[in-house]
Amino acid sequence: MAYICPKCGKKIKQFDNYARCTYCGNRILIKERPNLAKDVPTD
Ligand SMILES: [Zn+2]
Repeated sequence: MAYICPKCGKKIKQFDNYARCTYCGNRILIKERPNLAKDVPTD
């Protein structure tokens, strides 16, 4: 399951021992939901 950083909107598919955004360092991530996927820019 992928997670989304609510701060920068990036999708994080994997991370280290603790959840952290690898782009901006935000430690609060939300679980990706199908309804939200369209609003998230993907690479
Ligand atoms: Zn982020």
